Amino acid sequence: MNIMYHSTRGGDPDTTASRAILAGLASDGGLYVPDFIPAFDLPLTSLADMDYRAVAYEVMSRFLTDYTADELHYCIDHAYDSKFDTEEIAHLHEADGAFYLELFHGKTIAFKDMALSILPYLMTTAAKKNHIGEKIVILTATSGDTGKAAMAGFADVPGTEIIVFYPKDGVSPVQERMMVTQTGENTHVVAIRGNFDDAQTGVKKIFGDEKMAEDLLKAGFRFSSANSINIGRLVPQIAYYFYSYASLLRSGKITAGDVINITVPTGNFGNILAAHYAKKMGLPVGRLICASNSNNVLTDFFRTGIYDRNREFFLTSSPSMDILVSSNLERLICESTEGDVKKTAALMKSLRETGRYEITDAMRRNMSDFYGGCADENEVFEEIRRLYKKSGYVIDPHTAVASAVYHKYTEETGDPAPTVIASTASPYKFTRNVLAALDPKYESFSDDEQFDALAEVSGVAIPAAIRQLRSAKVRHNTVVAIPEMEQSVRDILHI
Ligand SMILES: *Cc1c(COP(=O)(O)O)cnc(C)c1O
Repeated sequence: MNIMYHSTRGGDPDTTASRAILAGLASDGGLYVPDFIPAFDLPLTSLADMDYRAVAYEVMSRFLTDYTADELHYCIDHAYDSKFDTEEIAHLHEADGAFYLELFHGKTIAFKDMALSILPYLMTTAAKKNHIGEKIVILTATSGDTGKAAMAGFADVPGTEIIVFYPKDGVSPVQERMMVTQTGENTHVVAIRGNFDDAQTGVKKIFGDEKMAEDLLKAGFRFSSANSINIGRLVPQIAYYFYSYASLLRSGKITAGDVINITVPTGNFGNILAAHYAKKMGLPVGRLICASNSNNVLTDFFRTGIYDRNREFFLTSSPSMDILVSSNLERLICESTEGDVKKTAALMKSLRETGRYEITDAMRRNMSDFYGGCADENEVFEEIRRLYKKSGYVIDPHTAVASAVYHKYTEETGDPAPTVIASTASPYKFTRNVLAALDPKYESFSDDEQFDALAEVSGVAIPAAIRQLRSAKVRHNTVVAIPEMEQSVRDILHI
């Protein structure tokens, strides 16, 4: 069955998956959503015999219906290969009764690699099949992990340029170092004096600027986005939730049909939305536990039906979740209105103009499988320490937010369902905070000493991404003010 995509705001004609992936954002500022969520029409028991690539194919082919089987296999085989440091691609680790789905075995040791390893293939294949002649310019705002993962994916991919904006003081030292040392002639990194929301708003503005679009086209370029607003990011992420179920089946922890819960440390709402789509496809999932750090807009939203970004913004130890405007929530909003794109557009207008909106009771009922919870900095550090003492397993601060909220949820509800916790970053990406949580004695250690200490404590070898940093040269050092973002794009592209 053919699936078409439409904008959440209704101002754009229906389009194919490959065209939606090329466009990134719909021209009316909305996000592309599928006309319906396809069913996973194979028996669940068949999952147990599939490797990651097979699961990815079965899931993605249901959504990306205008890609041929050959095209999809080409994309999947090139994405999920030996650039991951485990053959499983996404390993499920049991600790203290929960199942941590390690999504950080790719090039940049964070979960963004899961989708950004394949997006360049999906996008260049889409350009070819739609006879697009222009060079694709990936324009991306990052809270730390997306930018690096996108650059690693797109570096030296013919026919593409990639420009990444990040908040100068809003990313971890390792995250920043990984970005400014990125190689590849087509990669460009710009720091902005502002926070992630400023970067994201700035990028959206450049996307929507008509003069810019005109000048781009004249110069032979077209924009696309590697942010999780791109449906080509979301669809590959659905696969690993099916894969986690497959792992549980294989290890005999569950039998086919058993209901599991999924807990996701959430920022832009892409990862948990993928879990929701997995559920809608037919994966037996009970609650979707949406875990936030101190920037707990979503917790309040799920508890009250009011989304309100007018609040203090905190820089936390989980910077990839320091977000007040979770873009992908728009897709859930649209779904909860049962496809009322006018209503969705009105709510998003209210968000732009007043920073808040309120949804109806009927809409709230349509999202009742979500549970919102949050953990503050003390609780995050305590959770890293607690889990390590209990099980010897070391988790990063983002994963710890999810782990802490999962415990709050089970205490509150007594829900005994087996739970998969999305483990979104390697502790090595946030070594300083992780070690600080374990023991204050590490504070005086140098960066290199800390990596060695973490290797000893966790029993996990230092990943290649970190080893390479030790000798990598800084290649990018531009810093601009927020109003200068557009000009820096023009400078980079010489337009
Ligand atoms: C991006 C990111 C998140 C948040 O994921 P969303 O899809 O934006 O909700 C959580 N943890 C880490 C480590 C990330 O990089």
